[in-house]
Parts: sequence; C-alpha cells; structure tokens
Amino acid sequence: MANETPGLSRSVEDYLKVIYSLCEPGEVASTSSIADTLEVQPASVTGMVKRLAESGYLEHVPYRGVQLTEAGTRAALRILRRHRVLESYLTERLGYRWEDVHQEAERLEHAASDELIERMATALENPSHDPHGAPIPTPSGEIEATDSYTLAELAPGERAQVRAVRDDDSAGLLAVEAAGLLPGTGVRVIRRTRTPAILQVEVEGTDPSVLEVALEVARRVYVLRV
Ligand SMILES: [Zn+2]
Repeated sequence: MANETPGLSRSVEDYLKVIYSLCEPGEVASTSSIADTLEVQPASVTGMVKRLAESGYLEHVPYRGVQLTEAGTRAALRILRRHRVLESYLTERLGYRWEDVHQEAERLEHAASDELIERMATALENPSHDPHGAPIPTPSGEIEATDSYTLAELAPGERAQVRAVRDDDSAGLLAVEAAGLLPGTGVRVIRRTRTPAILQVEVEGTDPSVLEVALEVARRVYVLRV
C-alpha cells in the first residue's frame, strides 16, 4: 500500500504543484510567475514561500526565485499522480469526456485518500499516461522525462508526434480535438502565417489532411520531433 504521507493543506499542495510546473525545464520559479499562475497577490506568495522554505519544501535561489527541494519535488509528484490517476479514472470508468475532468480532479486530488488513488490505479491496470497524454508519476515518485515544446514552435517542414495537450481549459481541449490533434497523432508543419496567426499543418488521419490551426491552439499541444 502507498505510504500515508501526512496530508498537506490544499493551498500548500497547489503551490507545490505550480512551482513544480514552473521549474520543470530546470528553471527557477519567480514570485511573480507563481502569483500569475495562481492568480493571487505577490505579497501572499512571499508569505507562503517563506513557510514552505521553513518546512523544507523550497530553497531560495538568490535574486531569481525558488526551487523545490527533494522533499518538495516528492510532494509535488504525489499530487500530480493523484490528479492524473483521477482524470484517467473519470474518463475510463465514469464516462467523462477529456475536457471535463480537470476541474473535478483539481478538487478531488486534495480529498481522496492514498488508498483510493491506488485502488483506482490498480483498477485501470496502472496507466502510464493520463487522458491528455501527460505521464503519471509512479507511487515512488518516478516520472517519465519529457521535452516541453509545442506544435507552435515547430518550423515549416518539421515532423512530430503529438505527445500531450494542456488540460486546464475545456475550450482549448475541444479545439485541439476538433483539429484531430490527439496524443499519438503524427503531424507535419507546412507553413505559418503571422496575420492571422495560423499554422498550416498536415495531420495524420484527418480528412482533409491539411488543416489550419490557430497558433493559440498549437501552443496547447506538446509534441515530440520525429
Ligand atoms: Zn488536469
């Protein structure tokens, strides 16, 4: 059975998760980027960051911001596992659509016991990725390394495979789905125009196979170059 870490408060868990995502490509999370992501005042971030550093979850990087310690990373990965297992269970077993599970998981990730999460994972035969293509951390906190560039960053002529889609906006997910850009799909960028900001993309398995994708939508789609 998963080890029962003492429960952290909901806001602590949200901070750790956000700082983890901001630090993902080896970056440092600044107070202002944390405040922007959580939509709170920088002053409240300063207070919470101090508490989290005192509890050993964060360390300051002088003049730049904060980074998670090993304990902080472990706690953040635990929340990510909960979130992604919940999203998988809701879509696989309860018939939710992929654009509707994020908000449910945001609430339930703080409330479900470790036992419930592990039973859901077992019932699903331990899925490796959530319905949006994001890797699910293992119970011991290992996670698949991923590059985080988007379809919008590809140059004309480049081929790639859709790896994951940002899950925090239902309309964005529907737009991605309408364009056929589901995880696993092969794509090739044909050209890009600045006004309007559009990417012309050949999408495997769609008819017609060449689509115009708004840059705003392409920025929500994470890809792997092939
Ligand atoms: Zn989500």
